[in-house]
Formats: sequence, structure tokens, C-alpha cells
Amino acid sequence: MVANDDIQEALNQYRSRLDIATWCPKCALIDMDGVLYDSMPRHARAWKRMTDEIGMSCREEEFFLYEGMTGAATIDLLFEQYKGRKATPDEIEELYRRKTLYFKEYGERILMPGADKMLNIFTKYGLKCVLVTGSAQSSLLDAIYNDYPGAFEPGMRVCARDVRHGKPHPEPYLRGLDLAGQPPHAAIVVENAPLGVEAGHRSGCFTVGITTGPVPADVLRQSGADLVVDSMPMFAQLLPELINS
Ligand code: CA
Repeated sequence: MVANDDIQEALNQYRSRLDIATWCPKCALIDMDGVLYDSMPRHARAWKRMTDEIGMSCREEEFFLYEGMTGAATIDLLFEQYKGRKATPDEIEELYRRKTLYFKEYGERILMPGADKMLNIFTKYGLKCVLVTGSAQSSLLDAIYNDYPGAFEPGMRVCARDVRHGKPHPEPYLRGLDLAGQPPHAAIVVENAPLGVEAGHRSGCFTVGITTGPVPADVLRQSGADLVVDSMPMFAQLLPELINS
């Protein structure tokens, strides 16, 4: 449970880290999987099935730790672990195609409870929303404007294809700031995964970690989250307090 005191303490620490006197958020940089869609269990199952097929004995849970990386970077990491080399571009293309196919097979997208409320509050308080995801999964990227109408203006998105370095590198969030036309200290990052939180932290933005999956709150704190919240509905509930602080 996050109390108002926790929000004030988190903001005090953030302001002191950046050496700024005030904090006035103008934009929200929002991750997709595990924040807007309850899609991570399906991603993990799809990764596990694909890696089983090529003789890698991965555990489903480990894919929650790789979350946020691009597909190509994840495949490279697995190849280095299991084969002692990077994957070739052809291998990356074929294996990511297969994983994407399995992901689609595992059913319709599920909206994350509380996400619509969060987006409505950001809009109501005049914060520009930018989608910042390591995904290249067109089934979700194409659906987002219908699933969350009016939340994201056209072009307000950074995905795997738009960056040279994926999360945990800060580049995706720095690109998001460019799109919003704001400096780091005018942004709220909303993330659920350790590598995504790290990217948000390294970009200099106030970074909120939401524990929507199996990764514990402490891991998100250690990754650099300024504030950790237990669920998206709870985050939506405390958001006006955070924005007005
Ligand atoms: Ca995520």
C-alpha cells in the first residue's frame, strides 16, 4: 500500500537526486506489455515454446526478467548463454517470427485493469501520453488506438523499430521525451519490468514501477524505481495526488 507520505518522500528523493526545487509533470511515458495489456504471461509462454523447440531449457519465469528488451536483443542473449555466440540476422528473423506466431495463437489481447483510468487521468490533467515499448508486436501496436481511444495522439510512440538501443538503455525514453518536447524532469515513466524501470531511471525521469507480474517490488526498487505501486488500479487512484504534488 502506498501512502501519501510515500509519494512525498519519493518526490523529495527524486528532486534531490536531480538537484531541482520543483517538479511539474507535463508528459507520461508509458510502457505497453504488463502496463496497458496483461500480455506478459502469453509472451513468456510463447518464448518458452520457441526456445524449447531449439533445445534451450529456459524457464517461463526468466522471460519476465528479460521483459522490455527488444526481441532481437533477447534472442542474442539466449544464443550467448546457450551457444556461446550471437544469433545471425536470419536466425533472429526466423525465431522472432515463430515466437510472434505463438503469441498470437495464445488468444485475444487482454486490457490491463486500471489502465484506461490511468490514461484518462493523465489526459484530464493535461499530460501528453507517449507509448514507449520494446515490442515490435504489430497485433498489439496496431490495436492500441482502438483499445485506448484518444489516449495517444498519432506518432506519439516509440517501439523496437525506432531505437538503436533497447531498454535497459535510456534511448527509448529519451526518444519519448523528444516526441513530447519535454525534459526528463517533466515526465512520469510508467513501467512494470526491471529492465524497463532501469531505462526510465537512466533517462532521468521520475519512474514508477507497477508490480503487475511475478517480479517482486524490491527488484523494481533496486532497478531504480522512484515509487513502487502494487497494481494499476491502485496507481490510477493515487495518480492525482502524485501529479499535484
Ligand atoms: Ca513491460
